[in-house]
Amino acid sequence: MVVTTLVILAVFLILAFFRASITSWLFALMVIVPVMAIQTQISGTTLQVVYLALFLFVVFFGIPPLRRAVITAPILKIFRKVLPQISATEQEAIDAGTVWWDGELFSGHPDWNKLRAFPKCGLSKEEQSFVDNEVEQLCAMLDDWDITHTRADLSPKVWEFIRSKGFFGMIIPKQYGGLEFSAQAHSAVVTKVASRSGTAAVTVMVPNSLGPAELLLHYGTPEQKDKYLHRLAQGKEVPCFALTGPFAGSDAGAIPDFGVVGYGEFNGQQNVLGVRITWEKRYITLAPIATLLGLAFKLYDPEHLLGGEANRGITLALIPTDTPGVRIGRRHFPLNSAFLNGPTQGDAVFIPMEYLIGGTTRIGQGWRMLMECLAAGRSISLPASSVGGMKLAARTCGAYGRVRKQFKVPVGKFEGVEEPMARIGGHTYMVDSARRFTALAIDLHEKPSVISAIIKYHATERGRIVINDAMDVHGGKGICLGPDNYLGRFYQQMPIGITVEGANILTRTLMIFGQGAIRSHPYVLKEIAATMDQNNKRALLQFDAALFEHISFSLSNAARSFVYGWTGGRGIPVPEGAETSRYYQQLTRFSAAFALSSDIAMAVLGGTLKRREKISARLGDVLSLMYLCSATLKRFEDDGRPADDLPLLHWSMQDALYKIQEAFDGVIQNFPNKIVRGLLSVLIFPAGQRLSLPSDHLGHQVSTLLMTPGAARDRLSDGMYLPKDEQDAVGALEAALTSTLACEPLQAVLEEARKAKKLKALDEVARIAEARDAGIITADQALQLERDYALRRKVIMVDDFDPQQLQANQA
Ligand SMILES: Cc1cc2nc3c(=O)[nH]c(=O)nc-3n(C[C@H](O)[C@H](O)[C@H](O)COP(=O)(O)OP(=O)(O)OC[C@H]3O[C@@H](n4cnc5c(N)ncnc54)[C@H](O)[C@@H]3O)c2cc1C
Repeated sequence: MVVTTLVILAVFLILAFFRASITSWLFALMVIVPVMAIQTQISGTTLQVVYLALFLFVVFFGIPPLRRAVITAPILKIFRKVLPQISATEQEAIDAGTVWWDGELFSGHPDWNKLRAFPKCGLSKEEQSFVDNEVEQLCAMLDDWDITHTRADLSPKVWEFIRSKGFFGMIIPKQYGGLEFSAQAHSAVVTKVASRSGTAAVTVMVPNSLGPAELLLHYGTPEQKDKYLHRLAQGKEVPCFALTGPFAGSDAGAIPDFGVVGYGEFNGQQNVLGVRITWEKRYITLAPIATLLGLAFKLYDPEHLLGGEANRGITLALIPTDTPGVRIGRRHFPLNSAFLNGPTQGDAVFIPMEYLIGGTTRIGQGWRMLMECLAAGRSISLPASSVGGMKLAARTCGAYGRVRKQFKVPVGKFEGVEEPMARIGGHTYMVDSARRFTALAIDLHEKPSVISAIIKYHATERGRIVINDAMDVHGGKGICLGPDNYLGRFYQQMPIGITVEGANILTRTLMIFGQGAIRSHPYVLKEIAATMDQNNKRALLQFDAALFEHISFSLSNAARSFVYGWTGGRGIPVPEGAETSRYYQQLTRFSAAFALSSDIAMAVLGGTLKRREKISARLGDVLSLMYLCSATLKRFEDDGRPADDLPLLHWSMQDALYKIQEAFDGVIQNFPNKIVRGLLSVLIFPAGQRLSLPSDHLGHQVSTLLMTPGAARDRLSDGMYLPKDEQDAVGALEAALTSTLACEPLQAVLEEARKAKKLKALDEVARIAEARDAGIITADQALQLERDYALRRKVIMVDDFDPQQLQANQA
């Protein structure tokens, strides 16, 4: 009996694993049930009941029209009742954008060959030249202390350079005088500028991100495009876009700002049909100096002048800021950053209909337009600016950790410091990979809404980890602000990226899995669409197909998750590669487990899953981490599998895989149903949780890589601005690293001479001269050591000021 049961379970496991058809399942049941019945020697009447039940089961499930009428139709009815109400704004967010690699991760069986077949990330000659010349020049002009402390603005020269060189027109096509850059190039520009000045990066990225240019390109009327795109590309117009207000932050769809359709006077003309808009917006980047104000408001037409309903929904307008009644100019002060950000208000400001973006045909479509544009912008700007800062942190921590000595040892060599150094290297490598991979999606004409939320969240969160660690590695050097502090402003400004374009808590808990479960899941959207279809016959057909495929998908994921849980993913066919194949296998295993747990969470928690933000967040973490891992593997392949980069690859992959395991554990431990907790635990971790964090030795390798000049260090920080001037704080640090390493043999000679009491001088500079005079080192070597001392001193020193210079109310 035990053997029979085991055989039967094995048959079920195999059928589920290979996603057998309904017919195969029914056939298996027709064999198994009689065998079981005979083996258990049940009485004649019971046997008849069992056979009848089996017969009915086979007939109802095996004959599709009967199945639809008897089984699917009641289920559809229940679905229609229990399915949570999706608000119009939620529906538009779900409909906006496309599904890309996130769909593969939801499939339970990602196609890794597809990942490897995506084109390599790279820039065209023209784009590379812009990065190497114009961006390089801009970075050289930027003095972040002057910007953030002295002027609280970019200098007029920098403003002029940004405008005249086309930085505001990176996404605008050449036919309108723009640079028409790829997303990859756009991202590379922002990354480089951000590694020099956060203020400049925000100033450059906002007009290229969610704003008037992007909206006009997609939805503008031909007249609007002709009127504004040239001027925007040349920086003759400064744009901003105002959605957020005091009473509508994260819940931006709830904006109270309103416009009422009516007749008014415009440019001396009477009885012009237009809209009277009243708004109060805040936090609007570039608003204080904007010449063009993009505005979101709710449109009402109480007198039905446009025909149709009175309440017309969110609508967008583009308003020249010299229009009478537009109030701009005041500034907020976001965390010592000096980019221009402030409030704007208007009270019954009259605009003609042609100011509506896309004209009257786009009335009421504002939310959808914003959602669609947000995916592209969010995929590029914030990830790029975060990565710029992370690269700066990685490069400078490596150099500082090697140059700065305490207890006669470079601080980066202490085991305690190796820990943050490893995080800095590993996270920078992984987030930079995801930045490149996501920009590639945009270049492939995707609008990946779920992925844009993933990359925005993780680039900024990991940016926060990296800058905190970088501050620790630098000690007091990071704390004391001044022209020589290259980290302090980045540290202060990090929360800005966390807050904007979907504040991070909301992005993690509500958007990534909440949207992904519907948008990227292979069947859920089809099932929802069927439940909403008013045509009952069509709805039933579609629902039946989706439902039974969904069931087979879930059973397959349960079986595969269980089997792979035992083997740790071993045996799964994946692309070859000694260093990477186990990672592909573990990701496939987790993808199956993720698809399974998503289905179970949706089935058991239904509409309440939306409110179970902690469960939803952890499932979102699994999805996000699988995405970051995919991007990292892709980058390693694209870079030609460089052996030097292996510590970064291994550290980042092992850290992320461990965190996936932790996220699953969090879901299981906190799932509000005991039976499901047990089931998930058995199906996902049948052999326990066997992954561990990267080893100390691996962390040591990453830390050493950061401190050692070479190809791997250069690749990690590739794309950041590296000043060559030794008077510059970062330039001096780079020079000091090279010099320190070159001078170490000479330092050893001096130390030996000191120990042998051949040198008596008490300070370093005097000792160098003494060694030269005693013939212990040559005159050239003495010069080399003197330069090294001067560089190290410049690196170690921090700024100090006359007290008056720091008075808050100085002119
Ligand atoms: C410097 C800066 C520049 C900006 N630039 C612009 C701009 O150019 N144009 C523009 O229109 N807007 C802009 N914004 C607005 C920005 O996008 C909003 O600040 C952001 O959406 C959050 O709104 P809020 O600050 O009012 O936070 P709130 O909405 O009050 O949120 C407070 C906290 O609650 C969390 N939260 C809210 N709802 C939920 C939920 N359902 N589940 C879980 N957590 C939740 C949030 O994550 C956040 O942590 C800018 C903001 C700043 C600070």
